[in-house]
This record gives sequence, C-alpha cells and structure tokens, in this order.
Amino acid sequence: MSNLFYFEICFAFLFGAIFGSFSNVLIYRIPAGESILGRSRCQTCLKTIPWFQNIPIFSYFFLQGRCGQCQAPISKRYPLVELIMGLLFAAVVYVYGVTWLTFEYFILVFGLVTASFIDLDHMILPDEITLGGIVIGLLGAAINPEREFLESFLGVLFGGGILWLVAYVYFVFTGRDGLGGGDIKLLAWLGALLGWKAIPFVILSSSIVGSVVGLIVSRKNEDGLKTMIPFGPFLAMGAMLYLLGLKSVGIWYIDLFFPQIP
Ligand SMILES: [Zn+2]
Repeated sequence: MSNLFYFEICFAFLFGAIFGSFSNVLIYRIPAGESILGRSRCQTCLKTIPWFQNIPIFSYFFLQGRCGQCQAPISKRYPLVELIMGLLFAAVVYVYGVTWLTFEYFILVFGLVTASFIDLDHMILPDEITLGGIVIGLLGAAINPEREFLESFLGVLFGGGILWLVAYVYFVFTGRDGLGGGDIKLLAWLGALLGWKAIPFVILSSSIVGSVVGLIVSRKNEDGLKTMIPFGPFLAMGAMLYLLGLKSVGIWYIDLFFPQIP
C-alpha cells in the first residue's frame, strides 16, 4: 500500500467515526420525533456535552464510560456505532478508492447503520432514511457518470417490487403481515444504488443469516418461533457483504440463471 492510500483509509475511518457520532444522535432523536439539530445532551443530567467530551470513540474511553458531569454511565452503544461506521467507511475506501461513487457508498453505509439500530430498538425503518435514500440513489445515478440511470431505476422497481410481491403472497396465504413496508422501501433503496443485479444476492444472504439468527434467538427465549426480529439489519448486512467483497458472487449468480442479460 502506498502512503497516500494508507492516509486515505485512516482519514475515511476518522470521517466515518464522526458520522457515527451523528448517527447516534439520529438513532435516538428520529424515533422520538425530536429535532436532529442542537447540541448533544446527557440523557440523565440533561447538561450539554462540551465538544472535548464528545470526540468519537476516544471520549468514551477517556471518560471511562461515564458522563463527565453527573457520572451517569454512557451506553456502550455510542462508541460501538462510531467504531462500526469508521470501519465500514475505511473498508469502502479500501475496496473502491476515492471517487464520487465512494461518497454515494458513504451515504448508504451511514443510512443503513442508522436505520438498522433504529429497527433493532423500535422495529421501524424511518421513511426519512429509506425514501430519502431512494431519492438520493436515483439522483446520484442521474448525476454520477460512473452509474447508469436505467440500472438504478430498474433496481428500485425490482427491489421494491419483489419484496412487495413476497409480502402480498404471504398475506394472501396467512392473513398476516410478514414483512414491513420499511423492508420493501429499504430494498428499493439498495436497488437504486447497487442496481437490480444486487437484489437476489441481498435477499438470499439476508434470509440465510436472518434464519440462523432467528433460530438461535428463539431457542434462547424458549417462546417458540414467534420472537419478532427486525429484518432491516439483515438486509443491511447483505448489502454490506455485496458491496465489500461478494459482488462478484452476486453477479455470477445472476449470470447463472440469466446468461443472456448483459
Ligand atoms: Zn450527565
């Protein structure tokens, strides 16, 4: 690795960690319906957190996991989200270098991590993130010469359409909602940015990982298979697997079934 590339990856990590810090704000404030602007406050003593105690990852360890003013414990979730975001941003630059597409992938990673934690906490995928992602994904395809608009547009139709169909068939046969509307919008967003060819891989990989985790969780809880597990984080995981290494497998899978489609 050249020195510049090494520098770019380190910078991407720091950039990601800062966005992880912002993500923590959104994870807490979007479901609560609070304004996303305004300084961070300690949720126990409600005092504004000074900037030097709000440095991503570092401050948590410097403050030994406690509020600098009232000593209330700070959730490990905060440095964890910052670390995940930093590592994913660094991985995007490691795989793709620095182009306009990299920035589109940063937006995707940021939105997916934020939406996943909100889904884990509240079983919802906010429209602000999923519908916003679709719009930004389509706009990016229209502006960025590295991408094809048709590919992106088909991605939205295919990603949204296929899950909608699965949800509809499931509803017809069982009379119950199996998939949330948020999952459908999330997959349409993935289609908008990654193209329609990514969709089968994302569905397959997220279903496999989701089923395995579902079995483990339901066994632990001992209340049968009724345990509600949000699907959003698994779709996000499938998208990350595709983006950061298994894209060729996903495309190979399409070519295997539809060799005539370019
Ligand atoms: Zn406090």
